[in-house]
Amino acid sequence: MLKAVQLRKDYHMGHTVVHALDGVDLHIPAGGFVAITGASGSGKSTLMHILGCLDRPTAGLLEFNGQRISGIGEKQLARLRNQHIGFVFQTFNLISRTSALDNVLLPLVYTRRAYRRKHALEALERVGLAARAKHTPSEMSGGECQRVAIARAIVNRPRLILADEPTGNLDTRTGDQIMAIFDELHAEGITIVLVTHEVDIAVRAQRIIRMQDGRIVEDHPVAPEQRQVVLASRGQGLPASGAIQPMQEPPAERGAVAGVLGVSATGE
Ligand code: ADP
Ligand code: MG
Repeated sequence: MLKAVQLRKDYHMGHTVVHALDGVDLHIPAGGFVAITGASGSGKSTLMHILGCLDRPTAGLLEFNGQRISGIGEKQLARLRNQHIGFVFQTFNLISRTSALDNVLLPLVYTRRAYRRKHALEALERVGLAARAKHTPSEMSGGECQRVAIARAIVNRPRLILADEPTGNLDTRTGDQIMAIFDELHAEGITIVLVTHEVDIAVRAQRIIRMQDGRIVEDHPVAPEQRQVVLASRGQGLPASGAIQPMQEPPAERGAVAGVLGVSATGE
């Protein structure tokens, strides 16, 4: 599904250069479930942006489904993102004064008009929010917003989902509900790459990659026993109830959101 060879990403800040990615080699087979961990600033989000074709590397090779990304033009790249990749972010990136349904409709620009509503409602149903389709994100809890964002990510039935700290703004119990949805999507064959700080989230993946200073310093499978030990130790303490946190940052504007979804901000 994804193959990266010696990926580099430099950011120039005045006279200094930040090597956000410093030679990353990575292969993620179709159907994989990979967690990426590492300290803040280690390059996780930069890697996700490049794997998701939202940004281009300074150097190195990236292949998506055997196709070299570097040779593809912007329009084609936007279409590839729209059709094959779903994104989920820590701060949801929903359009705040637009209904859940309209948020989920946004990526459906290449779908025949007659099917759009049906597909969007099906996606909302998948995440248990069909009844709240008319509500706006400002009327929803953080967990509900993230479920809307997942519905938007899956509405085009992507083969790959990239999630950057999707539970970072949620309490433990709500985070578990979100992870249960990712587990289901993975069971259906969708490849999932998830950035997280939390060990008990990371062990739900099949494989954990740890980054440090723009490099991969660890890459190992998760043993089922390891997963059980971590999750069992968690289960002993009851999660705090009713502690759903409000959204902590204003949602991105339409333009920024549209770019991620591979659609134009001004409609079709
Ligand atoms: P993480 O997601 O692991 O916290 P990031 O990928 O966001 O790390 O950042 C990696 C490094 O690149 C950090 O040193 C960060 O300050 C720097 N960086 C990230 N994005 C930019 C940018 N747009 N401009 C300049 N530096 C950046
Ligand atoms: Mg980050």
